[in-house]
Amino acid sequence: MKKITILGSTGSIGRQTLAVIRKNLQTYQVIALVAGKNISLLTKQCQEFKPTYAAVLDKNLAEILRKNFKELKLKTEVFFGIKNFCKLAALNEIDQVMSAIVGFAGLLPTLSAIRAGKTILLANKESLITCGKLFINEAKIHNARLLPVDSEHNAIFQSLPFVLQSSLYNMNLKLHGINSIILTGSGGPFRTLPLKKLSSVTANQAFKHPNWLMGKKNSIDSATMMNKGFEYIGACFLFNANINQVEILIHPESIIHSMVRYCDGSILAQLSETNMEIPIAHAMAWPNRISTKLLPLDFTKISSLNFEKPDFKRYPCLKIALNAYLYGQSAIISLNAANEIAVESFIKNKIKFTDIAIIISNILNTINFKEPSTIEEIIEIDLIIRKKTIEIVNQLNKSY
Ligand code: NDP
Repeated sequence: MKKITILGSTGSIGRQTLAVIRKNLQTYQVIALVAGKNISLLTKQCQEFKPTYAAVLDKNLAEILRKNFKELKLKTEVFFGIKNFCKLAALNEIDQVMSAIVGFAGLLPTLSAIRAGKTILLANKESLITCGKLFINEAKIHNARLLPVDSEHNAIFQSLPFVLQSSLYNMNLKLHGINSIILTGSGGPFRTLPLKKLSSVTANQAFKHPNWLMGKKNSIDSATMMNKGFEYIGACFLFNANINQVEILIHPESIIHSMVRYCDGSILAQLSETNMEIPIAHAMAWPNRISTKLLPLDFTKISSLNFEKPDFKRYPCLKIALNAYLYGQSAIISLNAANEIAVESFIKNKIKFTDIAIIISNILNTINFKEPSTIEEIIEIDLIIRKKTIEIVNQLNKSY
């Protein structure tokens, strides 16, 4: 029996993790569920999976949850707050932690799991990219295994030789005959929209991704392709790749989830239906396989597979992200913090879709931090940039 804590159980990835567990109850046991504010869903999840512990963001929510559990005669113990999220990610009795809290908020619990030497099923790419080498070093020091869940990183991982899969941190791509990693992305819902119409798109339109059903932030990040920028940065850290070893390709059908290009001309790819249960199940079972009981991919129903280069005029956020990686860790932290605030502001209808890139670019043009060498310094930069970005958003909002 593998025992697991799920960070972000009420989100898109969290719910799909529980869907995989539901189909494999003989192999997985849920020990702790951590959520933000969605008490009603968390209550239902606890009723079904009967974890030993559950945690939510604050005291009031925890009180409501306790009341619910009392009425339902559930024995699940309730906690709240970030310190307890960290404890639940590091429990002695667990083997795996699904890291699926959205954004920078997932960083400390994920680090806590790493420091406890757990196997981390890593969906939260924001924690990987904002900490970069520090994140990888912590995993090395504490002998924690990182298994990528993000579909592109997972596809690359699956297309690597087994010896590299099992020694992620000491990876030398060239030594194993690998020329490059090819990250694919659908291009999001606005891939063919005339450029001049981009400034008037709404958040609801952006949520309607053509192939994937995701949380709100990830959907907007896909529409701007900031998501691909994050994946590019994440791939460089996870697979020890330099900038010449990562290619980005738009593939609107999202059938190929990424590829690895070998020096003999071979290319290995991972293909599947667009369902996150597949990479989640892969990471949970690695190096074995478990069933997702999903319908197999039907090649006869795929009329064509298309590929194109990303256009930076349409996706300025992608270009900004690639530049931030070249600049260094403080720029990546700033990129992520400014993006979180800008995306939230767009969702709340305070700014236009096209303002997201303008705001982040303004922020990155003004930063002048020394490179952080501790997690505390990373958190400090994140806080400063959030404040600055909120000021810019407020100024922009007044001008509309
Ligand atoms: P969602 O927005 O659907 O879910 C986010 C989860 O995080 C919810 O459980 C939410 O709780 C919880 N949460 C939010 N803020 C906090 C907080 N401050 N403290 C504790 N919990 C919090 O996101 P997704 O599932 O889409 O994404 C999760 C992560 O996975 C992201 O980092 C994303 O980039 C990554 N990812 C997602 C993919 C997808 O297909 N969805 C694909 C690849 C990567 P609540 O709702 O209860 O408030």
